[in-house]
Amino acid sequence: MNVAYLNGRKCEDLRQISVYNPSFLYGINVFEGIRSYWTGEETRFFDIDEHLQRLFVSVEFIKFKVSISINDLKNELIQIFQKEKIAEDTYIRITFFINSESTWSEQSNIGRLISIRSMKTNLGNATETNLLISSFNRISSRSMPPSIKAGANYLNSRYALLEAKRKGFEGALFICERGLVSESTGSCIFFIKDECVYTPSENSDILVGITRNRIISLCNDSRIKVYETDLTPSLIYSFEAAFLAGTMIEIKPISQIEGKQFVTSTHHIYKRIIELLKHYIYG
Ligand code: PMP
Repeated sequence: MNVAYLNGRKCEDLRQISVYNPSFLYGINVFEGIRSYWTGEETRFFDIDEHLQRLFVSVEFIKFKVSISINDLKNELIQIFQKEKIAEDTYIRITFFINSESTWSEQSNIGRLISIRSMKTNLGNATETNLLISSFNRISSRSMPPSIKAGANYLNSRYALLEAKRKGFEGALFICERGLVSESTGSCIFFIKDECVYTPSENSDILVGITRNRIISLCNDSRIKVYETDLTPSLIYSFEAAFLAGTMIEIKPISQIEGKQFVTSTHHIYKRIIELLKHYIYG
C-alpha cells in the first residue's frame, strides 16, 4: 500500500513537483515520520499528538504560513485511514513544503503532503548494528537546529552515514560541537550500565525523539532509572549495552561502537524496554 494526499486531495500521479520548486532545489521542508500499528482490530498511531506538536514547532521555526490547524491535520489523517480502509502497519510521512516556483525564503504557498506506505513492525526482532564515531560533527543548535525536523538536516546525516559505510560500519554516531555524544543519523542513542539507562541530554544537539521520550517515560513508570545527561565519548567504554531508538527503526541493539563491544540483545533491561514498548502499543 502506498497512498499520498496533497492538500487534502488524493494524488493519483505523484510526479507533480516543478524542477524550479525551492523545496526540491534546497531541501526546504519540515516533516514528521509516524508509525501506525494494526492490532488486528484497529489502528493505533504511535504518539500522534507528540508528533504533530513537534511538526508545528518545526513549522513555526521555518516560518511556513500553513493553512491548517493541528486538530484539522489530525482529523484529516484519521479520515484518510478510514477512507482507505487501512488495516496494516504503516509509516506515515507528513511534509510541509513550498508549493510554488519562488525562492528559498518564501513563507506562503505552503503545500502539505501526507503519504502512507506499508511498513511492518520489527519491534523486538531487529538485528544488531555497529557504529563508527563520525568525523562530521552533528549540526548545531546555533546554525541549523537539529531539534527542528527539516529535510536539509539530512545532508549532515548523509555525510556521516556514507563515511561510516565507506569505513565498513553500518551506521554512524555523531559527536556535537560541545564534544559530547549526540545521536545517530536518524535515531537517538541509549546506553545501559548497572541497571540504569543513559541518553544524551537535549543540549547535546539531538532531535528530541518521540520514541526517546516515550522510552524515558516508560522506564520512569517502571522504576528503571534514566539519566538524560552529558556523555563524553570516553564514557562509551564504560557501558554494558547500547541501542538506537527512532520511529523508522523502532529499537535496534548495538553490538559495537568502533572498538567497544556491547552485549545488548540479551541484556535484561533492553528486553524489558522492548516489552514496555509492546505493551504501550498493543495494551
Ligand atoms: N534523530 C534523528 C536525526 C532522526 O532523524 C530521528 C527520526 N525521526 C530521530 C532522532 C528519532 O526521532 P523519533 O523517535 O521522533 O522518530
